[in-house]
Amino acid sequence: MKKSFLVFPIIAALLVGGCSPKTKTPDTSPTKTTSLPKIGVTIYKYDDNFMSFVRNSIQKAAAGKADVLMNDSQNDQAKQNDQVSTMISKGVKSLAINLVDPKAAQGIVDLAKAAKLPIVFFNKEPEAAVLKGYDKTWYVGTISSESGVLQGDMIAKLWKAHPEWDVNKDGTLSYVMIKGEPGHPDAEARTKYSVDTIVKAGIKVNKVVEDTAMWDTAKATDKMDAWISKYGTKIEVVITNNDGMALGAIASLEKAGYTGAKQIPVFGVDAIPDALSLIQSGKMAGTVLNDAVNQGKATLDLALNVANGKAPTEGTAWKLDENKAVRVPYLAITKDNVQVGLDAYK
Ligand code: BGC
Repeated sequence: MKKSFLVFPIIAALLVGGCSPKTKTPDTSPTKTTSLPKIGVTIYKYDDNFMSFVRNSIQKAAAGKADVLMNDSQNDQAKQNDQVSTMISKGVKSLAINLVDPKAAQGIVDLAKAAKLPIVFFNKEPEAAVLKGYDKTWYVGTISSESGVLQGDMIAKLWKAHPEWDVNKDGTLSYVMIKGEPGHPDAEARTKYSVDTIVKAGIKVNKVVEDTAMWDTAKATDKMDAWISKYGTKIEVVITNNDGMALGAIASLEKAGYTGAKQIPVFGVDAIPDALSLIQSGKMAGTVLNDAVNQGKATLDLALNVANGKAPTEGTAWKLDENKAVRVPYLAITKDNVQVGLDAYK
């Protein structure tokens, strides 16, 4: 009898634990005790579509290896600096920082340096001089220009294969550009290299209009709404710096009746699952895989190694380039190879 009283609560506890949602917010309370090394992580803002996949990947990679203190910096650099100070006082062994402002890296380095802590920046690349200036700093991300080149190359090939996209038959590709956050290395490089690559492929281009929607779906819908009423059929192609904004542009175009034979091709970057579904159903023309899963894994691998006093890439397949950066490659995705994008998020 006594025995069954003891067994029941144990089974109940196991069941409750086993059923808890995978997305449970990590416990960052200072009272938590664990023998795993503490790693302090910031995400520039949780409501960035792409970053939510990087964040999940970091959490997954950390399971059983590190005690991750995860912070939402809510797009506020001052808040992020405070979070870093708090994590240092909680005894983290390394930091993994997704900057709010790519130009604010030095401030974070100064905080870490004072505590002799290593830092892995990820997704928003600090200036090379900042990485050089402190021997315990590394970066995980991509070669920003690569995504622009791949996007431009994909647009050029499809433009040549679809003469009907040249609505006014003037032999010129008239596009609107929806840009990410100005000053963000990915946004700047994608905006430049996508168009440069189209021009290099021998296609004449006409920029109807360009503006930022700050990586954001709702802001992109607003921009596109305004542009459709101002420029209407002058727009032949929509180029965006990320899929979040591509989704926003597509919502606007559909609302305005640009569907079926009137559909305008929209291109993004990231290959987030929502965009891949639209590519499958023919509502989006293409994207570029920005490998969130591997960027998250690499960030955790490096941050864990340095937290344990090891060399950053020890025991991993990651390679550092001359700027102390791990660069995860991009890949162009259209309907033909959409499965590759889907597999990357499995
Ligand atoms: C992604 C964007 C994301 C941004 C955040 C970029 O690499 O393509 O979707 O909003 O990073 O910094």
